[in-house]
Amino acid sequence: MSMISDNILQVRQRLTHACEQSGRQSEQLCLLVVSKTFAAEQVRAAHATGERDFGENYVQEALDKICTLSDLRAQLRWHMIGPLQSNKTKDVAEHFDWVHSIDRLKIAQRLSAQRPAHLPPLQVCLQVNVSGEASKSGVSPGELPELAHAVAALPRLQLRGLMSIPEPAQDLAAQRAPHRALTQLLQTLIKQGLALDTLSMGMSADMEAAVMEGATIVRVGSAIFGQRSGTTPH
Ligand SMILES: *Cc1c(COP(=O)(O)O)cnc(C)c1O
Repeated sequence: MSMISDNILQVRQRLTHACEQSGRQSEQLCLLVVSKTFAAEQVRAAHATGERDFGENYVQEALDKICTLSDLRAQLRWHMIGPLQSNKTKDVAEHFDWVHSIDRLKIAQRLSAQRPAHLPPLQVCLQVNVSGEASKSGVSPGELPELAHAVAALPRLQLRGLMSIPEPAQDLAAQRAPHRALTQLLQTLIKQGLALDTLSMGMSADMEAAVMEGATIVRVGSAIFGQRSGTTPH
């Protein structure tokens, strides 16, 4: 477990360095610890070092972890970052604080309708397919404005911004380009009158590039917990 705290320290140093290089305050940046495929006790170890935001991809796995860690519930913010199916929206609306992976109005409408009245509005981002491959999830940049305005009007969701998972790239310039494109899409929506403040972009391999292009949430898994086993997806 001390490996986890060492890794978190290293990730935080990488982020602080990237903030310094780009003239940003590191307080403006949220580290989202991606705990998918890792055990509740590893989340507990990360919490013990001060982490509060955790990302999950698979609803059932997340519900089990949220239940096991119910003693920490008031301190933790759980973020759904994986593809969402209609039959899982109720569980997500009831148990998560954030959803980053909305790419269809129907899913957003269900989440809004199913968000319990005693909870604050669900904080949401729209996932954008910046690289443009047909297979990937995410709304296309062309269809984004219409979806964003429709989601912003839903009563029990608060639209905060955009999320992306670009194609992996080796060098810094190639990593920065899709992040810059997402930043520009957010600026366009803000000019159209939407009050947005969140760019969820950057993972273990490209967090510096994302910070340089304005990420406000970086989603980091393997740099903290180690490689995920090959038997589970992602
Ligand atoms: C798994 C995952 C991450 C974390 O990826 P790492 O490369 O392990 O840091 C971030 N975002 C999403 C959407 C993921 O599915």
